[in-house]
Amino acid sequence: MGTPSYPLTLDLTGRRVVVVGGGPVAARRAAGAVAAGGRVDVIAPWLCEDLTAAVEAGDLRWYGRDYVAGDLLEPEPAWLVHTATGSSLVDAQVAREAEVARVWCVRADDAQASSAWTPAVTRGAQGSSAEGITVAVSAGADPRRAAAVRDAVGAALESGTLPVRRVRRPAGTEGQVGRVALIGGGPGADDLITVRGRALLVAADVVVSDRLGPTGLLATLSREVEVIDVGKTPGNHPVGQDRINELLVHHARMGKQVVRLKGGDPFVLGRGGEEALHCVEHGIPVEVVPGVTSAVSVPAAAGIPVTHRGITASFVVASAHEGAEHVLRAAADAAPDATLVLLMAVTRLAETAEALVAAGRPATTPVALIERGWTPQQRTTTTTLGSAAADARAAGVRAPAVVVIGDVVAVRSSLGDLAGE
Ligand code: SAH
Repeated sequence: MGTPSYPLTLDLTGRRVVVVGGGPVAARRAAGAVAAGGRVDVIAPWLCEDLTAAVEAGDLRWYGRDYVAGDLLEPEPAWLVHTATGSSLVDAQVAREAEVARVWCVRADDAQASSAWTPAVTRGAQGSSAEGITVAVSAGADPRRAAAVRDAVGAALESGTLPVRRVRRPAGTEGQVGRVALIGGGPGADDLITVRGRALLVAADVVVSDRLGPTGLLATLSREVEVIDVGKTPGNHPVGQDRINELLVHHARMGKQVVRLKGGDPFVLGRGGEEALHCVEHGIPVEVVPGVTSAVSVPAAAGIPVTHRGITASFVVASAHEGAEHVLRAAADAAPDATLVLLMAVTRLAETAEALVAAGRPATTPVALIERGWTPQQRTTTTTLGSAAADARAAGVRAPAVVVIGDVVAVRSSLGDLAGE
């Protein structure tokens, strides 16, 4: 067991901090105190480059001489002293006088003999979800151990896995409007969201979520987070787009950090553009975080690359929600060998397939119907354009599913499913 310690955070603003010593260790200690707003006096007969630069920049005052008795009290009493002279004799003298004057003393030469220690520190990056968080790590007399833990915690802070959501608003921001983040959650697996998306999600006050996407992450949020499910569930009417737009603006106006969590990518057949426009039109700061779209990732999960050397160099994504017309237009504009990727295509599969054949796509063109990609229930039915509707009916294919039409489907016979655990 080392010396007991009492972690504390100091406000050094405008307070005198004395640094005895002019080398690199003293320079680091002085820089830390300056950054924290301390009025730093450095006492040393010579200075290293960094300290010279700091003196020239006017960041601190330099007394170009050896330490003398009384330096901690004159010209005014110090609140804190760092001693890093390289001489244990001098450091010990400073520490003795600090003790008498009741000034906390950090000794570079002998941690055990110090009355205070500086921890390894990491702070949440400005503008990130972790902004405003300071983590200080102490590992007794093993500073490199502390630094290693500090680095790991620093990375975790930015990873979106720590509960960094603000519970109290920073002073002075009362009444300010919040912001909206349109986040692409990926195709369904909880770990196919981006790091940025996850970090914003964990910091959200309000989450407006869809049925698709990484819904498993919602259970990991703090119970204080308001989760509004606007997704379609069978037998349940979805919340209309106008209402969703209103919800985003309403909560942002209440000063909330609002996350609109969407399946796949927000700007691929997801009406994310409309939501962003609505926010902009209402003066709400909005940002988008792209996501892994189901159009590309769900075929991949089934071992189907949407482009493949020797087969095709292009693919087209279209919605079949409104029926065959949009699909035909997309197919007509594409290269004859382009892969067609259809979303929202289950309900009107028969008429879509029929129209494509009528427009000249061979009835023998391979087709894959991939349901619930990247979930444990993922299932793939392979067929042809001519038989797609009948085979889908026979297999009981249901939404959500991605329909892939083209020769790339054949690659699946060699690869099989590729979605890892
Ligand atoms: N913005 C989304 C698409 C929204 S439209 C994206 O980029 O992925 C909704 C359609 O996406 C569904 O009808 C289905 O066709 C497809 N889809 C989304 N997630 C899916 C999944 N996990 N498995 C199969 N299809 C999916």
